Amino acid sequence: MTEQCKEYAEVSLATYGETFAADCEVTETSRGIRFAGKCPRCSTFMTYDWVETYTRTTHSGPSAPAVGDGEQAVILCTCPKSHEGTPPDEEGCGAYWRMEVAAE
Ligand SMILES: [Zn+2]
Ligand SMILES: [Zn+2]
Repeated sequence: MTEQCKEYAEVSLATYGETFAADCEVTETSRGIRFAGKCPRCSTFMTYDWVETYTRTTHSGPSAPAVGDGEQAVILCTCPKSHEGTPPDEEGCGAYWRMEVAAE
């Protein structure tokens, strides 16, 4: 068995985003962006749906706020493995990190 089952811990290392971005698949969905890749902490494949919040504004014309560059999504580990100490209403190993979302 080579599976690593770390204990649940809400941690974020500066390297997580980079590690994840190097090997993740980004798919646009109707509501946001889906990230698929390996969790940099527990190395388990997972997907995360990031919902764009700024699209809630109504289409009221040119005064609608522009979407700036460098939108950041916060990704949480949602791997299906069980980790010791995961709260009942949580999933994954607790790792989280930020990803730049390219604005068009
Ligand atoms: Zn995990
Ligand atoms: Zn994880």
